[in-house]
Amino acid sequence: MGTYGRYPLELVRGKGVWLVDSQGRRYLDAVAGIAVCTLGHSDPVLRRALCRQLGKLQHVSNLYRIPEQEALARAICERSGADAVFFCNSGAEANEAAIKLARKHGHTVRGIERPLILTAEASFHGRTLAAVTATGQPKYHQGFEPMVEGFRYFPYNDTAAFEALLAECEAEGPRVAAVLLEPIQGEGGVIPGDPAFFRRVRELCDQHQILLIFDEVQIGVGRSGRWWGHQRLGVEPDAFTMAKGLGGGIPIGALAVKSAVDHFRPGDHASTFGGNPFACRAALTVIAEIERRQLLGHVQAMERLLVDQLLDLASRHPGRIAAVRGWGLLQGVVLSEVGPTAAEVVKAAMAEGLLLVPAGPRVVRIVPPLVIRRRHLRKLIKRLEKALISAC
Ligand SMILES: *Cc1c(COP(=O)(O)O)cnc(C)c1O
Repeated sequence: MGTYGRYPLELVRGKGVWLVDSQGRRYLDAVAGIAVCTLGHSDPVLRRALCRQLGKLQHVSNLYRIPEQEALARAICERSGADAVFFCNSGAEANEAAIKLARKHGHTVRGIERPLILTAEASFHGRTLAAVTATGQPKYHQGFEPMVEGFRYFPYNDTAAFEALLAECEAEGPRVAAVLLEPIQGEGGVIPGDPAFFRRVRELCDQHQILLIFDEVQIGVGRSGRWWGHQRLGVEPDAFTMAKGLGGGIPIGALAVKSAVDHFRPGDHASTFGGNPFACRAALTVIAEIERRQLLGHVQAMERLLVDQLLDLASRHPGRIAAVRGWGLLQGVVLSEVGPTAAEVVKAAMAEGLLLVPAGPRVVRIVPPLVIRRRHLRKLIKRLEKALISAC
């Protein structure tokens, strides 16, 4: 079905940060399947691990113990403050699990009959019905009303507005089950969370026994230069979701929780495919390779180089670039109001052999594989500069 406005581009193979189309043209990939292909394309280690797994077992069912899933849950918990993990297949599904967990928390811990979940304006949490309701962007709701009940929105990073909404919701007793936030807003325009705002939200959630849930679907699994975006904020959630980068291109999502809020009991939630041996092998390999290749430190180094070069580019084109913002290898080039739109720059970049993706009408998102290197960044900047000029 025509759910996507697609580019007339057919990608047929890839290697590392490079993609090749059906006409034999090469593209430097600064999209990575939208923050998915952590290790780049056709990574030999991931390929070998998956081939081996295919020769062993692909899928059984969560009716049985799955050693790959247990190992992956342990790997995630060891690298975060979480104690237990639920596995599914996508970001939206991980957020659905978080929303159900939040409601159960509201009922059982706070004794709320009709619990509310507070989310931010300009957020993005996915396209299934509850996840899209959580998404604080009316354009995604249009045509799909009625939305799921029990969501309220506040402006991101706005402490006073958050305090006011919380006070209003709690005026006649407990009503709020959870606050769901991206540590950095991705799709909404690459807007990093403000640590002071997040600390205050954490404090208020603690006071009221409200769950603080982070959507780490885009920034999680190393993209920020830390395992999780919340480690950059210095604020720990009660639960967080991940998906995009976790399987390096194999679909897998997860909800990780602290034991105190591990409210699901047998029968409460389920997924047929979630956490099958094949998908878990992919994620285990991605995590092991991030460590073996020291990609967290590498992302930090690449961030410094990329941001320096983007700021330099901005200083040479002040009429076209208004700002540069982001964390690690999730960077947004904010275009000025008078120049070309993000869609126009992305299209022009494609003609220059560079793949980029918009994050809203005025922000060009740079989300390459984490294995991108210094020499690729130089090419990226050159091609982006040409695109900025030709898009006008
Ligand atoms: C992409 C994204 C989602 C949705 O993930 P899907 O796998 O497309 O369902 C949710 N939250 C954030 C922050 C995302 O970037």
